[in-house]
Amino acid sequence: MARKAATLPEVKSHYGDLKNFIGGEWRASSATDWLEDPNPATGAPIARVPLSPKEDVGAAVDAAMAAWDAWRRTPPLDRARYFLRLRTLMGARFEDLSRIIVQDMGKTIEEARGEVMRAIENVEVAAGIPSLMMGYGLEDGAGAGIDEEVVYQPLGVFAGISPFNFPVMIQFWFWPYAVATGNAWIAKPSEQDPLVQTVVFDLIREAGFPPGVVNLVHGARETVEAICDHPDIKGVSFVGSSQVAKIVYARAAASGKRVQCGGGAKNLLVVMPDAKLDRAIPNMINSVYGCAGERCLAGSAIVAIGDAHGATRRTFAAAASRLKIGYGLDETVEMGPVISKKHRDRVLGYVDRGVEEGAKVALDGRGLTVRGYPGYFVGPTILDGVTPDMAVGKEEIFGPVAGFYEMESLDEAIETINRSWYGNAASIYTSSGPAAREFRYRVRAGNVGINVGVAAPMAYFPFGGMKNSFFGDLHPQGRDAIRFFTESKVVITRWF
Ligand code: NAD
Repeated sequence: MARKAATLPEVKSHYGDLKNFIGGEWRASSATDWLEDPNPATGAPIARVPLSPKEDVGAAVDAAMAAWDAWRRTPPLDRARYFLRLRTLMGARFEDLSRIIVQDMGKTIEEARGEVMRAIENVEVAAGIPSLMMGYGLEDGAGAGIDEEVVYQPLGVFAGISPFNFPVMIQFWFWPYAVATGNAWIAKPSEQDPLVQTVVFDLIREAGFPPGVVNLVHGARETVEAICDHPDIKGVSFVGSSQVAKIVYARAAASGKRVQCGGGAKNLLVVMPDAKLDRAIPNMINSVYGCAGERCLAGSAIVAIGDAHGATRRTFAAAASRLKIGYGLDETVEMGPVISKKHRDRVLGYVDRGVEEGAKVALDGRGLTVRGYPGYFVGPTILDGVTPDMAVGKEEIFGPVAGFYEMESLDEAIETINRSWYGNAASIYTSSGPAAREFRYRVRAGNVGINVGVAAPMAYFPFGGMKNSFFGDLHPQGRDAIRFFTESKVVITRWF
């Protein structure tokens, strides 16, 4: 039975009607449609989210346009100092930010802390902008006495649209780089858990960013469409499901914007007969059930090769059945609820469909309830006898469900990964250097783990994907982000 966590002072029972942050101030949305935002553990509403119409997006673009010329003329080192102040403020509010994520999204407090840290790391990296943004030059590059150089310049106003599963971190994959390079920014967080962004924007204001440089507009589909269509927005960064990523990619590109769109995933964990199971299993459990399976890097199918199958299946199932499920504010809880009732029904629907297609339920999380918390829980679930052509074998479930495949060779596993519609991540557990090398060399996935089940790139590396897991050329984070948010200009100078 889950221990009921004490209510913490910053966790209010209701945050009221959320506002947009435009031109340095909180403004009421002109929305006529609103969404209830519930706590996924209790099901009780904690805020109302405006579905902002295009007029609100227009107001944010006007504020951003008014701010960006002075901002781009602010020297890079001065721009960096805003990020250093923001980093200090985020550190001071670290626990508040983490607890609000638990309350609004459902992950555990430890997972939320990890997420906030990842957001902070992007601020830290973006604060290095004077070095990151440097161009290059060559004396006499264009002939005797004629020098040539490249400079990188911001484009204007960018916007970022993020999914529910990392409600603070994913916006930070984009905006610190966009703004540090001298652009203005409009954030559109997920309508399912936007609370933590409202605290972030209080901190952005406290850090002293000039009004209009960083803006927040709440909303959903209509708001996103207004962003894609606005002629003064120069580029769009998106992360979400592949289906929506494709729509946003095409619609934003139609008006000539730069676009980067991260999509969904179906990630395989391959276990070789020489894997060190005592270390691999806890790592795989974290990959599959961490954040209740709602990570784009989550392992969702386990492919144990040859002899590895029996022991892997047994040890994994035993560990999964021991997980403690409950409200994430309880420090001892290891897995929280999924985001919504609708999403729980979808996850459970996949388990039923797996059974219809011939898979066997080896661990059944469908009936799980948590005393005192009538929210959206699904227990750890294992499906045996899954094949890559079943819906549960090829589609993204995005919940705490592991499908076990049986395969005879590494080749077969790599071919299965490469045939997948998705290409976000893939991992191998092995002690063999050649097997690991072959896997790394051949798999078509953007994030590869060798004895690592969640191959999450740090802030100074790009976060990409292949196939239908990413649309665009330049990825969020790292050097790719600097290139995405700037354009290069070649300057040739004859000195007379
Ligand atoms: P989603 O696609 O439903 O929503 C993402 C964003 O798009 C939200 O801000 C939402 O308001 C907006 N949106 C939704 N429908 C839209 C429409 N028809 N037109 C325009 N905008 C629309 O995704 P989600 O359920 O919030 O997030 C989960 C998905 O995100 C999973 O598929 C997961 O794999 C993926 N994800 C990918 C990565 C990555 O790096 N590739 C990271 C995290 C999550």
